[in-house]
Amino acid sequence: MPAPHARVAVIGGSGFYEFLGDVREVEVPTPYGDPTAPVAVGDVAGTPVAFLPRHGKGHEFPPHLINYRANLWALRSLGVRQVLAPCAVGGLRDEVAPGDLVVPDQLVDRTSGRVQSYVERGAVHVPFADPYCPALSQALAAADGVRQGGTMVVIEGPRFSTRAESRHYADQGWTLINMTGHPEAVLARELLLCYAPLALVTDMDAGVGSGEGVGQEEVFATFARNIDRLKDLLAGVVGALPAPGEGCACASWADGLDLSYELP
Ligand SMILES: [Zn+2]
Repeated sequence: MPAPHARVAVIGGSGFYEFLGDVREVEVPTPYGDPTAPVAVGDVAGTPVAFLPRHGKGHEFPPHLINYRANLWALRSLGVRQVLAPCAVGGLRDEVAPGDLVVPDQLVDRTSGRVQSYVERGAVHVPFADPYCPALSQALAAADGVRQGGTMVVIEGPRFSTRAESRHYADQGWTLINMTGHPEAVLARELLLCYAPLALVTDMDAGVGSGEGVGQEEVFATFARNIDRLKDLLAGVVGALPAPGEGCACASWADGLDLSYELP
């Protein structure tokens, strides 16, 4: 049987499996090792969609140990050109509250020690001033109840922030905090993929309020309460996506450049 093909992918939590109908799972080895799980390819309202659980099928990979390079590479190998990336985030400022859905437009990388590039030789400098695909971002933001804009700071984890760190991030004007948004976004850009995050605010980060600080249970509980809403929303967005390359330059920034890697 030939490998299934999908143009659109969702990288998300394992709660998304039932999002797909008629699922086929496919193992996709890559030059960078195995992705965090076999890729599930199924149907969403008539469109083939690839789904990859970011943390593995049983949530076995913490944020700092996810093989981000293998994940993006595996998706592109199956024909994927557009990646929707739902993720859980903490809120840093009063303008967001738990349960909010936000499409951030900027990213600050505070991770360390993660391999964040496929470039291993030569002069390839990836444009990243606007880290997310404008066309996908707009398609997500057009959904009911989704707001657009704001900066997401990505920390190394797996620990949460101290109160001082959290206050510092909020003082910078940054809105959201998360542990997986980088290097996912830049690797997608290097592979000439359209990529946009959809952040679900699950808690207010430590130090922003005077509470106990964020805990794992709170994050999972808020995510579980909102998963059906997220799935419905994504299904609608998948049906309304522009053609790849329409309204963005995600697939063309490297035209004329000698990338040091062969695109799958
Ligand atoms: Zn794009």
